Amino acid sequence: MAQTQSNLFPSYGRFPITLVKGEGSRLWDDQGKEYIDLMCGLAVTNLGHAPEAVKEKLKLQLDELWHVSNLYHIPGQEKLASLLTANSCTDRVFFCNSGAEANEAAIKLARKYHQKVLGTGRYEIITFQQSFHGRTLATLTATGQDKVKEGFTPLPDGFVHVSFNDIEAVKHAVNDRTAAIMLEFLQAEGGVHAADPDFVSGIVELCKDHGILLIADEIQTGMGRTGKLFAYEHYGIEPDIITLAKGLGSGFPIGAMLGKEKLAEAFGPGSHGSTFGGTPLACSVGIATVETMVEQGIPARAQQMGELAVSLLQERLAGNPLVKDIRGKGLLIGIECVHAVADYIAEAQKRGVLPVSAGPNVIRLLPALTIPEADLKQGIDIVCGILTEAASQSTANRS
Ligand SMILES: *Cc1c(COP(=O)(O)O)cnc(C)c1O
Repeated sequence: MAQTQSNLFPSYGRFPITLVKGEGSRLWDDQGKEYIDLMCGLAVTNLGHAPEAVKEKLKLQLDELWHVSNLYHIPGQEKLASLLTANSCTDRVFFCNSGAEANEAAIKLARKYHQKVLGTGRYEIITFQQSFHGRTLATLTATGQDKVKEGFTPLPDGFVHVSFNDIEAVKHAVNDRTAAIMLEFLQAEGGVHAADPDFVSGIVELCKDHGILLIADEIQTGMGRTGKLFAYEHYGIEPDIITLAKGLGSGFPIGAMLGKEKLAEAFGPGSHGSTFGGTPLACSVGIATVETMVEQGIPARAQQMGELAVSLLQERLAGNPLVKDIRGKGLLIGIECVHAVADYIAEAQKRGVLPVSAGPNVIRLLPALTIPEADLKQGIDIVCGILTEAASQSTANRS
């Protein structure tokens, strides 16, 4: 139902739908209408809604302990950190509650490492046009999109944006102030654009030659989304810092910043903190999520289902004059259209499917990595049907 009067700040443009229940890849609204979920709360419920294995652990933890201060040892943090480091190229973890906070921690760590451990005084972070890194002052400054910055000046110093997949531009931007390069291997909010392998190896070389840290923003691409547990694995390289949130808690708020051992010294006692970061509740959910992902080979399934989805889309949309490109990795898929996609998304909602956009002209599909094949096919069928009808209408209008 569309809300007529509200005490909320109107900071979100909301669809006229109120979702009240979710199970697996299905959602229900307050009118009892059923939907196939192709957006997962924006890449959050990667194991589907209310996954059994995670729910069980959460219920057990509810009876034990919800919150203690980080002034005490928290076994759940140790366990989740050991799972995350065992399954990545990193050694240390800092827990927080969201993606923006994970990136804030990464930015602070990069600066502190250069300033206190290496004594170089470097502070600049290079990021990319069309990137998205969050909504806090530092992370919206890091974000390479003007629309998130309007009206929030003065912005913090020390961020430089260069064009994505342009290694010459990065070389040009590197100087003796450069502390880190922050990168999404697959720009998600920015329109589903993958980094070229050559571009990534060029960046890794630059980082090595100039003593620059590589920060991988895996907040959307991590947790199996792209067909590997982390998107950097597609490139055969190792970032110094990885940031996570979204899919890490299956819908329970948790964020994490992972880093190499050499960085540990920069975050000594008192250097950074968060009241809610890594509570026993959040960690129980994170542990169950990562264990399920790894034990059940969920990333490989995302890869398989992603290939199926893309081949279905290519087949159904071949020759459609309204469709410019179909691209993505795993189950982070973009359908770039000639026109704005808002109407297609509204029509999909009417027909019981929930995709989302990525910029004005791209339909983004982010289904659960566990989505049943039949649901995926049905959802894609409906989205393709809308684009096929729209194409035949636009030819009819022209003739
Ligand atoms: C969503 C997202 C963020 C911000 O995460 P929040 O939890 O909303 O703060 C940062 N980076 C990327 C790539 C994202 O997709």
